[in-house]
Amino acid sequence: MSDIATKIVARFSELGIKVQPEEVETKLDQLINKFKVPPEEARRNVINHFLKQNNIPRTEFFEKRETSQVKASEIKEDGRWVTLRGKVVQLWETNHESVSQTGLLGDESGTIKFTKWTKAGLPQVEEGKSYLFKNVVTSEYQGQFRVSLTKTSEIVPIDEDVEVGRTLVEYSGAIVDIQSGSGLIKRCPECNRALVKGACGEHGKVEGIYDLRVKAVMDDGEKVQDILLNREVTEALVGITLEQAKDMATEALDQAVVLDAIKSKLVGRYFIVSGAKLDRFILVDTIRQDTTPIDQDIMKLLSIAAPLAQEA
Ligand SMILES: [Zn+2]
Repeated sequence: MSDIATKIVARFSELGIKVQPEEVETKLDQLINKFKVPPEEARRNVINHFLKQNNIPRTEFFEKRETSQVKASEIKEDGRWVTLRGKVVQLWETNHESVSQTGLLGDESGTIKFTKWTKAGLPQVEEGKSYLFKNVVTSEYQGQFRVSLTKTSEIVPIDEDVEVGRTLVEYSGAIVDIQSGSGLIKRCPECNRALVKGACGEHGKVEGIYDLRVKAVMDDGEKVQDILLNREVTEALVGITLEQAKDMATEALDQAVVLDAIKSKLVGRYFIVSGAKLDRFILVDTIRQDTTPIDQDIMKLLSIAAPLAQEA
C-alpha cells in the first residue's frame, strides 16, 4: 500500500504539486482496510480526490509519458521502453508471418536489429529512410540487443537523413564457404531484396534486376565470420563484371556457372578484409589476398625438408 502511495506522490510531484504522503496513506488505508475497496479502485479514488483539489484535468495525470530517446549503442538493458531516431539500414526477408518487418536500424552511434510485429499494425518502413521510432522495447538474445516495435510503438517519418555510424573492423582468415544467394542474383525493383525463385518475400513474382554479390564464411582458426561483398567489390576481386556474369549464365543456360567460378577463385584462400560490422556480417570495403599464412606453410615445409636434406 505504501508503494501505491509513493507512486501517487511521485506523479503529483512531477506535475508540480506537493501532496502529503501521510494524507495519501491514510486515505488509502481507510478505503482498502475499512471500506474493503479493491486497491486499484482505491488508488483511482485517491488520485481523483487530489486532482479535484488541485484543479488538474484527469488526462494530464494519466497522459502516457514519452519514453526517453537513446542512441543505438546505449541499449544495454533488457525490457526498457525507449525512443530511437534512426535510419532503416537494411531490411531482411522475414520467414514468419508474425513478423511484419525485420532488419537493422542505425544512428550516429551504430546499428541495432529491429523486429516489427504484424500484430502491432504499424506502417511499413523503407530501407534508407529515417524515422523516429517511439516507445520501442529492448530485448537481448544471445548477447545481442534488439528492439521490438509493438502495438504501443509509433513510427514517425522524419525529413532529415540520419547518419549511420560505422564501426570499421578488420579480419583475416580463409574463405571456407560461399553461401547460396551468392553470384548472379536478381533483386526486387521495389524493395531491393534478393529474389528467391523469382519471387520477392514482400512483392511476390516480379521482374528482377540483376546484381552480383558474395556471401561468404571466413575462418581464422578460432572463430568464423560472415562477410558480404557488394557488386563493385565482387567484380574487382573475382575479375568478372556483372555484364560478363550475365553472358556466362546465358551461354551456359545456368546462373550457377557464375557461382562455381567464384567458388573456385575464393574458397580455401586467405584474405584480409575490412569494412563495417553490421550484425553478423562485415560489409566488405576492401579485400586483399593474405600471403602470410602461405609463407608460414612454406616455412613449415622447409623446416621439415631441411633436416631431410642434411641427411641425404
Ligand atoms: Zn520486393
